[in-house]
Amino acid sequence: MDNADFKRTYIYGESALGNLKKNQTPAYPRNYEIWYTYAAGFNRGLNKAINDILRSQGKISPQELDNIYNEHLSPSRLSDRVDEVGSQISKELRSIVREVEDYVSTAANYGNSLVGASKDLSKTEDRQVIRDIVAQLIAETKDVESQNRALSEQLAASQAQVLELRESLDTIRYESLTDDLTTLANRKHFDRSIENALAEASESGEPISLLMTDIDHFKQFNDTFGHQTGDQVLRLVALAVKQNVKGQDIPCRYGGEEFGVILPRTNLRQAVSVAESIRKAVMAKELIKRSTGENLGRITISIGASTYKPGDTPQSMIERADKCLYAAKRGGRNLVKAETDPDIEQSSSDVA
Ligand code: GH3
Ligand code: MG
Ligand code: MG
Repeated sequence: MDNADFKRTYIYGESALGNLKKNQTPAYPRNYEIWYTYAAGFNRGLNKAINDILRSQGKISPQELDNIYNEHLSPSRLSDRVDEVGSQISKELRSIVREVEDYVSTAANYGNSLVGASKDLSKTEDRQVIRDIVAQLIAETKDVESQNRALSEQLAASQAQVLELRESLDTIRYESLTDDLTTLANRKHFDRSIENALAEASESGEPISLLMTDIDHFKQFNDTFGHQTGDQVLRLVALAVKQNVKGQDIPCRYGGEEFGVILPRTNLRQAVSVAESIRKAVMAKELIKRSTGENLGRITISIGASTYKPGDTPQSMIERADKCLYAAKRGGRNLVKAETDPDIEQSSSDVA
């Protein structure tokens, strides 16, 4: 996890805790997951459902959150690991409740003792009786003090435990949306993000563009140098993609050796310039096999770029970017093609 991801997940986590408190939602893991997802903003349906309720009522009840969870989250849930974290949190909460109950009953007994002692003191002037009452009170005060201390310690330990569990949930969420090999966002994240980004673009009227990239002759590379070396190259290409986009952009591993880059607030001309810098960064890398020092030459990628038009769906934008990508392949590879390029327009009128 790089530093930006670390910061981002913490910001989501903090926002989720804030919303749990503000809406007085019990801090069960699934409620946390709802508010975390809400903060991350990639589940548009969930955000809309919550915003609609907040707008009309100002607050959202646990029952309403349950319904939203069932409708918008539960199928994509990493149930086993989440359940495990959930049962740990429940255990922790049960032990806090028990500890607090014990404390409350001790405090109540102590209160009764004080009342009793005060009555007894008003009835007697016998020094020995008074001394006994005071000794008894001191003993009980010490008990209350020690239980108070135990409770504080237990609460501090629980707080640390809950913070740790919160990190586990962040990690689970992060992993479920991350590609293991390249650490880029995975296909699931891509599908959600593009849906979300298109909906935003259609509302705001801001441009949004998409790049689809594919490594050139990668099958041959694998056949020559082996799949594992191929995997290293995939990592290298992913890094080149990552290093040539900015914070708002979303680079993803779309499939095997294909990457998709969602570029919010970016027009086609700007998208082509991003694509060119990725293409150049990849071809600039000399591939040296780490284990042997062998020079494997260079690798290139082809890129297709499309940009949002009213009425576009993720599918239609991906199709147009793919079409450009194939044109780049046909054009000799190691090329960027955009949907306004003359040869692309030519081929789209051929189809029509
Ligand atoms: P083209 O220039 O037309 O794209 O040729 P290509 O050989 O790259 O053709 P294509 O894109 O269809 O090939 C996909 C190849 O990429 C097949 C497989 O050998 C390789 N590949 C796909 N996923 C992975 C992966 O996860 N690791 C490795 N090492 N190779 C992969
Ligand atoms: Mg391919
Ligand atoms: Mg390829």
